[in-house]
Amino acid sequence: MMLAGLGYDSHRLAAGRALILGGVEIESEMGLEGHSDADVVTHAVIDALLGAAGMGDVGQHFPDTDERYRDADSIGLLAQVMRLLAAEGLQPVNVDVTVIMERPRLAPHRDAIAARLAETIGLPRERVNVKATTGEGMGFVGRGEGVAALAISSLHRA
Ligand code: MG
Repeated sequence: MMLAGLGYDSHRLAAGRALILGGVEIESEMGLEGHSDADVVTHAVIDALLGAAGMGDVGQHFPDTDERYRDADSIGLLAQVMRLLAAEGLQPVNVDVTVIMERPRLAPHRDAIAARLAETIGLPRERVNVKATTGEGMGFVGRGEGVAALAISSLHRA
């Protein structure tokens, strides 16, 4: 049986924070603000995987009111989610991500992000696709106030 899931997340850009996308730290004047490391890409991927599994969302599993998750490494949370899925006999098939960000340009980092996600999810590199677009100057992304990410995943029940 094939199961599909959708994920979306956004975080505010702020000075003095690291910009971590898909577990890769990217050089930038601004980083993302949040309770955890605010890795918007990994959060969208977690929600896509949990959605496909019918297991709720990232906030239910890792509440932002819980001090254990302050500045949490979101790639570590993704690894925990993969163990939950494996316990249910669910295997990832593919993940596709779109990052919506005005700057810096994502292109030079796309391969590193896809590789880090693939390694954590336990997929071959070619089953994880990372795309990038901008807000064309419109909305919160276009004004450089934040970054958004969309993800979709499919799972196979063994
Ligand atoms: Mg988030």
